[in-house]
Amino acid sequence: MSKIPEVRTEVNFVDYKDAYAAAQAVIEANRCLFCEDAPCIQACPTAIDIPQFIRKIATENVRGSARTIFDSNILGMSCARVCPVEVLCVGSCVFNKLDVPPIQIGKLQRYATDLAYDKGWKFYEAGPDTGFSVAIVGAGPAGLAAAHDLRRFGHAVTMYEKRAVLGGLNSTGVAPYKMRADRAAAEVDWILDIGGIDVQTGVEVGEDVFWSELEAKHDAIFVAIGLGPDKHLKVPGTELEGVHGAVDWIEQMKLGEVSLEGVERVVVVGGGNTAVDVVREALQLGVRAVTMLYRGTEEAMSGYAHEWKAAKIEGARALWQGLPVAYLGEDRVKGVRCVRMDDDKKPIEGSEVVVGADLVLLAIGQGKLGDMVSSLDGIAVEWGVMQTEESGATGRAGYFAGGDCANGGKEVVNAAAEGKRAAKAINGYLMQGTLTLPAEGF
Ligand code: SF4
Repeated sequence: MSKIPEVRTEVNFVDYKDAYAAAQAVIEANRCLFCEDAPCIQACPTAIDIPQFIRKIATENVRGSARTIFDSNILGMSCARVCPVEVLCVGSCVFNKLDVPPIQIGKLQRYATDLAYDKGWKFYEAGPDTGFSVAIVGAGPAGLAAAHDLRRFGHAVTMYEKRAVLGGLNSTGVAPYKMRADRAAAEVDWILDIGGIDVQTGVEVGEDVFWSELEAKHDAIFVAIGLGPDKHLKVPGTELEGVHGAVDWIEQMKLGEVSLEGVERVVVVGGGNTAVDVVREALQLGVRAVTMLYRGTEEAMSGYAHEWKAAKIEGARALWQGLPVAYLGEDRVKGVRCVRMDDDKKPIEGSEVVVGADLVLLAIGQGKLGDMVSSLDGIAVEWGVMQTEESGATGRAGYFAGGDCANGGKEVVNAAAEGKRAAKAINGYLMQGTLTLPAEGF
């Protein structure tokens, strides 16, 4: 059982999307056109057979529907909550072109997978023992997806995770109004329930165990180490109390408590999805004034437009084309001095302004962990990102990689797809080119 602390700030959040009741799910499912060559499938990184799982809900075969989802994506429960469906499956639904509301695929997926969890339906078991052993470094979405399928192939699996908590960003980083850490823990338990996955927590490669030891113990290694700590700007005042990395702050809020006593103004630096998430989190925790400070324009921000639109409705403000040059305050931060940028991203002389802030959250990206594998001959690393083939294979025999450490930082659903793909490739590598797919394929 994955252990999540009971006292957590995140329990103050409520789901931002209501779950469907059975009747609502059937009505919505019956709107689907069950398209041939469905664009919604093509938009899904795990290629779930969406019309098929929806058809099964329409015919009240929810167990079959859940099976269809999990066959493609064992993290189907969390993906139903955290996927940016507006730019993936739902955004591709043919109804968008007909000026009709698209099918609520995420909510239907949540309905089927939640029922599977509630009813305790089991679909998978480990394959016959092959005698091979695989190390998985990192127990986030990619590692978990790979572990599950490797067990289905019959390989022994050991997961090495540096944290005490499993689940990776699903447990530590997902906005709690989308999914709370206890739900991520339920998913970890659901996946580990296949049995035979040895989980070693508090073990960091390079500190507690070395690649050479893993090579001696295992026949293949899947590297799924995610991303590193928050990046910081090199400006005066970084050491002030109240200046934090956003990902670190979110983790504290999800797995423990953050204090917002005396915090009336938050400045979030960045314009990506983490920035937008943390803006909404601060607002929903009751902070009066939350300002996103981004060096580019609103049109250029990389955060999803639908999420930013929701943030604005919740009261978010923004200062576009602003770059912090100093954090102000004695011991604790009181404001951010920033310079305005022109359209060529050059500072405009004499344009400095000060934005009041009792808390500054830096969401300008996370470090890459390529250094962790740089001692391994044959593994290419570019800008900190591990380079792999489509299958996840690296240039070093027996080493595969997937998830954020190999894609640079994408969605949970990408990590799930890459973990599954790597499991298949690892199986092929171990079985000398003969894939041992079960009859239904996976
Ligand atoms: Fe159903 Fe829309 Fe997918 Fe067509 S594109 S199968 S209508 S969800």
